[in-house]
Amino acid sequence: MSFQNPVFIPGPTNMPEAIRLACHMPTIDHRSPLFGDILHPCLDGVRRVLKSQSAQIFIFPSTGTGGWETTISNTLSAGDRVLAARNGMFSHRWIDMCQRHGLDVQVVDTPWGHGLPADDYEAILRADKFHKIKAVLATHNETATGVKSDIAAVRRALDVAGHPALLFVDGVSSIGSMDFRMDDWGVDAAVAGSQKGFMLPAGLAIVGLSEKAMRAVEHATLPRTFFDVRDMAKGYAANAFPYTPPVGLMNGLKLSLQMIAAEGLDNVFARHTRIAQGVRLAVKAWGLELCAVSPDAYSDSVSAIKTPAGFDATEIVNVAARDYGMAFGVGLGEVAGKVFRIGHLGMLTDAMMLSGLAVAEMVMVDLGLDITLGSGVAAAQSHYRHGGA
Ligand SMILES: *Cc1c(COP(=O)(O)O)cnc(C)c1O
Repeated sequence: MSFQNPVFIPGPTNMPEAIRLACHMPTIDHRSPLFGDILHPCLDGVRRVLKSQSAQIFIFPSTGTGGWETTISNTLSAGDRVLAARNGMFSHRWIDMCQRHGLDVQVVDTPWGHGLPADDYEAILRADKFHKIKAVLATHNETATGVKSDIAAVRRALDVAGHPALLFVDGVSSIGSMDFRMDDWGVDAAVAGSQKGFMLPAGLAIVGLSEKAMRAVEHATLPRTFFDVRDMAKGYAANAFPYTPPVGLMNGLKLSLQMIAAEGLDNVFARHTRIAQGVRLAVKAWGLELCAVSPDAYSDSVSAIKTPAGFDATEIVNVAARDYGMAFGVGLGEVAGKVFRIGHLGMLTDAMMLSGLAVAEMVMVDLGLDITLGSGVAAAQSHYRHGGA
């Protein structure tokens, strides 16, 4: 594996050199105002990326998975019912975590490649006359299948059903790369991690909780200690954590948020859309198909690409690593061996993406797939040279 090539796994993503350096800093007193100068810009910057006025932001030394646990353990009680669709590996894992916490999960099994079934959610919420469902789970971007879901539609399902359940959204592979509107969509918990759109190493769970979610914290009885947001909020008020914060990572996050703000959120999203569209045109030129079934479900941060029946898609990832020192993502769960994934989020340029497409082509030709060298690259080039118009 080369340390010079960019990676095309859907997280951890490529790191800008400046962010890498920002993470690398001398020890400071993490209970001093010096830490406050790192902490508060992080909290404010994350709130802006989430497009929320009033959300409370929590940053834990953890990963996205810890963000899920923060959300459920602080707002729910054993036996509470939650509604969740399973349309990929990440939505599956969140469901599994809820079950292990003793929650009663009403699962809507949804074919992988499809987005969340907002209509089914609506029917189930309407039928729940006594409001036994306390929370609705939604994975904004299913990283296993490259499928984006319509969170506004899930919000509408709750509203038209007149249902008071909390809305929890996993935005680990969308926040910072694709538009996310916490307030407009009435999201009560938004979950992210440091190593995807924020272009950092893994190590931070980033969670936004609405005022409604913060009220639920007072009544929820699931056990929580490390992830207790009340302790964390008390710490923040004194420029501190309830324990030792990962100062270097947070210094990197502060810079990441500055870089995102300097580029402009809309420009960041447009760049992701343009790069993703180039990948999709390449896939088409190869004569292959995406796992995502329809354009409205296409993710701008990751593409899962189906390979012909009888072909082991994992071989593409293995050969790319072995022969070209380049990393792509394997298929997970139900689509293991059937798809390979190209991550195209975080610090990425058109030129970097072309290098990934060029290597993917060489690997597929090496493995005997009927693909013409240069075909996908040319399709993406035509798109990129016009600025994605
Ligand atoms: C990566 C990812 C996670 C898990 O995050 P970790 O940081 O690995 O714990 C959860 N959900 C989605 C959608 C992801 O892409």
